[in-house]
Amino acid sequence: MAANLSAVAYLISGVLFIMALRGLSSPETARRGNYFGIAGMVIAIVTTILNPHVLGFDLIILGLGIGAVIGTVIALRIQMTAMPQLVAAFHSLVGLAAVLVASAALYAPESYGIGIAGQIKMASLVEMSLGAAVGAITFSGSIVAFAKLQGLVKGDPLVFPGQHWLNLLIGIVIVAIGVVFVLNETIPLFWLLVALSFLIGFLIILPIGGADMPVVVSMLNSYSGWAAAGIGFTLENTALIITGALVGSSGAILSYIMCRAMNRSFISVILGGFGGEAAAAVSGGRSDKSVRAGSADDAAFIMKNAGSVIIVPGYGLAVAQAQHVVREMADKLKEEGVTVRFAVHPVAGRMPGHMNVLLAEANVPYDEVFELDEINSDFSTTDVAFVIGANDVTNPAAKTDPQSPIYGMPILDVENSITVLFVKRSLSPGYAGVDNEVFYRDNTMMLFGDAKEMVEGVIRAL
Ligand code: NDP
Repeated sequence: MAANLSAVAYLISGVLFIMALRGLSSPETARRGNYFGIAGMVIAIVTTILNPHVLGFDLIILGLGIGAVIGTVIALRIQMTAMPQLVAAFHSLVGLAAVLVASAALYAPESYGIGIAGQIKMASLVEMSLGAAVGAITFSGSIVAFAKLQGLVKGDPLVFPGQHWLNLLIGIVIVAIGVVFVLNETIPLFWLLVALSFLIGFLIILPIGGADMPVVVSMLNSYSGWAAAGIGFTLENTALIITGALVGSSGAILSYIMCRAMNRSFISVILGGFGGEAAAAVSGGRSDKSVRAGSADDAAFIMKNAGSVIIVPGYGLAVAQAQHVVREMADKLKEEGVTVRFAVHPVAGRMPGHMNVLLAEANVPYDEVFELDEINSDFSTTDVAFVIGANDVTNPAAKTDPQSPIYGMPILDVENSITVLFVKRSLSPGYAGVDNEVFYRDNTMMLFGDAKEMVEGVIRAL
C-alpha cells in the first residue's frame, strides 16, 4: 500500500517537473514553471521522508537544514553575473553525490536491498559503476568550468599534443575496468574507475576555451542529470530516475540548441581548443585605427531624431545592472514617436536566457523583444542600433575571418543599420578575446562609459 502511494506521489512530482520545464521555456510562463518545480520537489522530498524504510530522521533533518541554509544564503547573495559559475558549482555537487551513493551501495548493499557484500546483483554493479563514472566526470569537469568562469583559471584552451589520444586511451581503460569490476566486484577497481573518471573530467574540460563555456555548462548539466538517474536506479527511486532523465535530456537538448546558435558542432566543442588563439593576439583593442567617440547628449540627439532603434544588450548590461534604465530610455524614445525593439542573441551574456531574464525583470514588454532570426534582417532598414555592453555577438569576424575563433557563429548584423551606437567602457574585446572591427567603422559612434551611467545621461538629455 505504502509502495503504491509513494509510486503515485513520485509520478505526480514527475509530471510537475515536466510542467516546470514546459513553463521555463518562455519568459511569460517561467515564474509559473518555477512554482510547478517547487511543488514537485516538495512532494518528492516528503514522499521520500515518509518511506517506512527510513529508520531515523536525525541525519535527514541535519542534511536538509544545512542544505537549506547554504542554498538560501547563496540564492539571496548571488549576483546575476555569477550565475553560470554557481550552476557549475552545483553540478559538481550532484556529481559528487552520485559517487558517494554508489560507494555507499558498494559497501552496504544490504541497506539498498541489492544483495550482500561480495554478491551484489550484476545489474546493480553496472548501475553503480556507470553512476560513479559519470558522477566523477561531472564533479571534476564542473570544478574546472567553475574555476574558468570565476577567473581562477585562465579561460584560454589548454592544449597539448596527443591530448585526444590520451583521453581516448583513458576512456577505453575506464570501460575495461568497469567490465572487470562488474564481473568480480573488486573494491579497489571501483576506486580506480572513480579516480580515472575524475582525471578524464579535468582533461576533457581544461582544453575548452572561453567562447564554448556556455555549451560546456549545459553539457555538464546534462551529465549531472544522467548521474542522478544512475543513482535513482541504485536506490530504486523512481522520482530520481525521472528527474535525472529530465535534467539529462533537457541539458543535452539545450547544448544542441546552443551549438546551433554558435554554429559549432557538438563534437568540436567536446574536442576543445576553441576561443583562445585570438585572445593571445589581441588584448586592449587595436591602437592603429581611430574611432569616433560621442557623448550621451550626442546619442540622445541621434536617437530622438531616428524613426527606429534596435537595442542590443550584452554581458555589460548585466554587469552594470542597466536593464531598468534601458527600459526607461526605451519608454522615453517611444514617447518621442521612435519605434524601439530589443534584439537578443542566444549566447549574449553569460548564461542561456540571461538577457531575457534581465529585460523581463525590468518589465520590458515581451512583444518588443526579438530573437536573432526574427530581427536580423531588419538592421538594414533601421536608423540606430544601440549596442549596450554586447561585443562578441555583434562581431562580423564571425562571418568574414575563417581564422577567428568565433568564425561561423551567427551574429546580430548591427553594422547594417545607418548608425551604430556602442556603449562600453573601452575598446577591450569581449569574452572570446577578439577585436571587433565595428568599433572602427564610419557609421559607428563609441559611447565610452559604464552602461548604466551612460544611459542615465541619455535619459537626462532626452
Ligand atoms: P562580450 O563578453 O562579448 O562583451 C561584453 C562587453 O561588455 C565587453 O566587451 C565589455 O567591454 C563590456 N562591459 C563590461 N562591463 C561593462 C559595463 N559596466 N558597462 C558597459 N560595458 C561593459 O558579451 P556578449 O554578450 O556580446 O557575448 C557573450 C559572450 O560570452 C560570447 O562570447 C559567449 O560565447 C560567451 N558566453 C556566453 C554564455 C551564455 O550562455 N550566454 C556563457 C559563457 C560565455 P569594456 O570592458 O570595454 O567595457
